[in-house]
Amino acid sequence: MDSAFRAEVRAWLEANLTGEFAGARGLGGPGREHEGFALRRAWERRLGEAGWTCLGWPKAYGGRDATLEQQVVFHEEYARANAPHRVGDIGEGLIGPTIIDFGTEEQRRRFLPPIRYGDELWCQGYSEPEAGSDLANVQTRAEPRGGEWVITGQKVWTSLAHLADWCFVLCRTEAGSKRHHGLSYLLVPMRQPGVEVRPIVQLTGTGEFNEVFFDGARTDAACVLGAPGDGWRVALATLGYERGASTLGRQIGFRREFEQVVAAARRTGAAADPVLRDRLVQSWIELEIMRLNALRTLSSLAAGEPGPEASITKLYWSEWHRRLGELAMAALGDEALIAEAGPYELSDLQRLYLFSRADTIYAGSSEIQRNIIAERTLGLPRA
Ligand SMILES: Cc1cc2nc3c(=O)[nH]c(=O)nc-3n(C[C@H](O)[C@H](O)[C@H](O)COP(=O)(O)OP(=O)(O)OC[C@H]3O[C@@H](n4cnc5c(N)ncnc54)[C@H](O)[C@@H]3O)c2cc1C
Repeated sequence: MDSAFRAEVRAWLEANLTGEFAGARGLGGPGREHEGFALRRAWERRLGEAGWTCLGWPKAYGGRDATLEQQVVFHEEYARANAPHRVGDIGEGLIGPTIIDFGTEEQRRRFLPPIRYGDELWCQGYSEPEAGSDLANVQTRAEPRGGEWVITGQKVWTSLAHLADWCFVLCRTEAGSKRHHGLSYLLVPMRQPGVEVRPIVQLTGTGEFNEVFFDGARTDAACVLGAPGDGWRVALATLGYERGASTLGRQIGFRREFEQVVAAARRTGAAADPVLRDRLVQSWIELEIMRLNALRTLSSLAAGEPGPEASITKLYWSEWHRRLGELAMAALGDEALIAEAGPYELSDLQRLYLFSRADTIYAGSSEIQRNIIAERTLGLPRA
């Protein structure tokens, strides 16, 4: 059954990554989000029309009700075909499932279809200058006025906000409330006078994330997900969806990067260095362990709640990937120091090294994951 599904996905990708999309393979990804954006958006529509977006969503909302195994197969085949990096990840993976679980029927009908076709892109407005790991410290506020919410405050590190049409914004709607009380989860249109997006240039020289300023921004009173004041519960549910079936697809991407590092070590002669050889072997072993861990996480997801396995997996892959970036620089040797072309055109491995520094920060930093493992698995006292 899954082999038939795998063959179907593979055949569709081969038949469609042709013509105008032939050059789209490999486009996009961390530090390369600007690449072929219009083409990738057209690709998103092609995928959506053929029913290859939002596979895990219920059929009633345009999904396929795909099993977890099928979703994993799709992600694996997608990565194997080196298909372009998706522009609608945040919509499909984060806000879509949240709307399905917490939205009203009207909200589902309004917001889900444009996510399927990449017609509306989303960004995640959680972090603030004083609320990162400590998310309950959110200070952005919103008040009801004349049938609308009026929003004032600042978000930061907002991935792809400069390309997004909508933002899901965690904000304080009860004046004087503290911590996780009195928060609401609002759906806010990005293209309006009260919203200003300022890109932040990253180590890669590109800007994947932004500062977002809300100064009297507005959204309809009906654009609250869950009950007003119940935003914390909804926000945590969204975080839970971040660890879904794309986990195994990531392994395929990692394997490709690992092979690039080995090829670089061969080419530069660094592969003759016994210490570097040891590091490469160790990295390969850890990649295998990671694959087995990911399978375990997925079976716990299939069983219901994400357990501490999700934290172990996040900690493990992000630390491994950061080390792979360092290994890539060792494999390149002196070449690592020189940009491919002026003024700052990076090679894939240089970009891997620089962007992988962020892996241990977003989606919960390594320190936070270790706290979760310490408290929930080892039963240590709270930090
Ligand atoms: C590439 C990238 C994309 C991102 N995209 C988004 C996005 O789209 N939307 C969004 O809302 N946010 C986004 N973020 C923000 C991300 O969620 C935060 O950076 C992260 O939660 C950490 O928060 P902070 O940066 O405020 O660091 P802080 O929370 O200030 O932490 C600083 C350091 O202290 C450590 N620390 C903090 N608290 C503890 C503790 N209790 N115990 C031990 N150590 C601790 C942290 O691990 C870290 O090393 C993104 C971040 C990155 C790097």
